[in-house]
Amino acid sequence: MLVAPAADLQYAAEIFRDLKSLKIVAGGAQRADSVKAGLLALAAEAPDLVMIHDAARPFLKPSHIGDLVAALATAEGAILALPVADTLKREGPDGRIETASRDGLWRAQTPQAFRYGTLMEAYAAWPDANPPTDEAVVIEAAGGRVRLVNGDPALMKLTYPEDFDMAEAIAGRARLMRVGQGVDAHRFGPGDGVWLCGVKIADHRTLVGHSDADAGLHAITDAILGAIGEGDIGDHFPPTDPQWKGAPSHLFLTHAAELVRKKGGQLINIDVTLICERPRIKPHRQAMREKLAELLSLPVERISVKATTTEGMGYTGREEGLLAQAIACVETPA
Ligand code: MG
Repeated sequence: MLVAPAADLQYAAEIFRDLKSLKIVAGGAQRADSVKAGLLALAAEAPDLVMIHDAARPFLKPSHIGDLVAALATAEGAILALPVADTLKREGPDGRIETASRDGLWRAQTPQAFRYGTLMEAYAAWPDANPPTDEAVVIEAAGGRVRLVNGDPALMKLTYPEDFDMAEAIAGRARLMRVGQGVDAHRFGPGDGVWLCGVKIADHRTLVGHSDADAGLHAITDAILGAIGEGDIGDHFPPTDPQWKGAPSHLFLTHAAELVRKKGGQLINIDVTLICERPRIKPHRQAMREKLAELLSLPVERISVKATTTEGMGYTGREEGLLAQAIACVETPA
């Protein structure tokens, strides 16, 4: 059950469209109104246990839920809480401060867990004109016992912009750095230019292949696919398929980059080495970096294009063909 502001119901439904079993109801002006709306929407199901959680605390773990359920065995309510670690000061009306004891003081977090029926009765009996600031106080007012369960600093409520920086850092621990490598070679044939890394270099030859034979883009595409375990370029664009005949290879590259995004990942950097005697790569290196940066939506400094020869040895040395090698670094959710 998700309670969202009435004005954002459609937005919430859009975000959670894949969670078919999630019910979304409109909240109220105050926290307590929203909680009551959610509880009432559960009336038909009459669950045994209910937990109320602030969505602004995203780092909930299954162990927190297990601990709360266990604590409910001997109480009407159970809440996650942290002992107050900072020294507490109270400011008087004259601006003077005094030190307050922190003994026995805890900071309440969520989720807070209750028996559904007990919480509904306690809410109905809430005596105060002011709404409660959490659900534990509703049970306390009705004479029920609420147990404290050890909370977690990671369950912080994200409120201020700097909280989100810390949350990013915490979330970062749950992400993986992955690398992939790609190799591609194409043969030279007569032509009017060589496509490499999305740039056409004027030449009396071309690279021969089913597509535009851009070995640089093919190697990078395979490196990206390798980093996310998605096979190789031939799996996605079979050379037997006539629709890829003469295709511009940037289609392959942007497809691989899109697969990274679909996995919730992001490209970190690309490094490609082009191995040939000719054409000379260096004069075109910056143009290649800029083209790759544009295709991959990456800053140009995260893209490296290098070139080398094989000192006249082997098929690249005899200028029969060109070899490209690439590495891609990708970050994805763990
Ligand atoms: Mg190829």
